[in-house]
Amino acid sequence: MIGQRDHASGAHFAFTDRWGGVSAAPYEELNLGGAVGDDPAAVLRNRERAARELGLAPDRVVWMNQVHGPDVQVVDGPWAADAAVPCVDAIVTARRRLALAVLTADCTPVLLADPAAGVVAAAHAGRPGMVAGVVPAAVGAMVELGADPARIVARTGPAVCGRCYEVPAAMRAEVAAVEPAAHSETSWGTPAVDVTAGVHAQLEWLGVRDRQRSPVCTLESHDHFSYRRDKATGRLAGYVWLD
Ligand SMILES: [Zn+2]
Repeated sequence: MIGQRDHASGAHFAFTDRWGGVSAAPYEELNLGGAVGDDPAAVLRNRERAARELGLAPDRVVWMNQVHGPDVQVVDGPWAADAAVPCVDAIVTARRRLALAVLTADCTPVLLADPAAGVVAAAHAGRPGMVAGVVPAAVGAMVELGADPARIVARTGPAVCGRCYEVPAAMRAEVAAVEPAAHSETSWGTPAVDVTAGVHAQLEWLGVRDRQRSPVCTLESHDHFSYRRDKATGRLAGYVWLD
């Protein structure tokens, strides 16, 4: 259920895998995405299960309406029940015990924390979001709340790797013009993009030194959801919070 979890001086980072939930095929089992065609009641139960497994209250987890853009929102609590969830790809908070969550199935989930400042962020960085700068925007919003990039701990979760993410040559050139580190080649020798490498290069440039990259490729792992592999599938989640 929780495929990867670690802790850095008060900051918690966790990434789910696809097992341990109640969703039926093709969303089996732990689909946490509410906009992929799965039964909403199953998604709700899965979110509750994952939260309890992490020791979180389910109603203290903030989700986004992700749109592959660069926009960031600062949050102080869960969205109001009668309000629309904003269309953003990064959320930032200075509230402790408020978990921020990001949904993915191949895109790169980015979790950031400055435990000393008490500020965390979750960002959804697919190819368009990485190019648009959603990760630098998230770090910028953290800095405005008192974070220092030199203290920020960064974790990127399971995502399609640079040897699997095939793209047209022109698209690779466009991406590499913005972030050269994302230039890649598939294991079969065609143009590819490594979004996670691009994210790490951006974080390095911003002065974020404590970074770890998940070794899991979602497209290669049958323990993870992959949109490129399966099209109709579930969503994994990454969670970050402070004690
Ligand atoms: Zn791969």
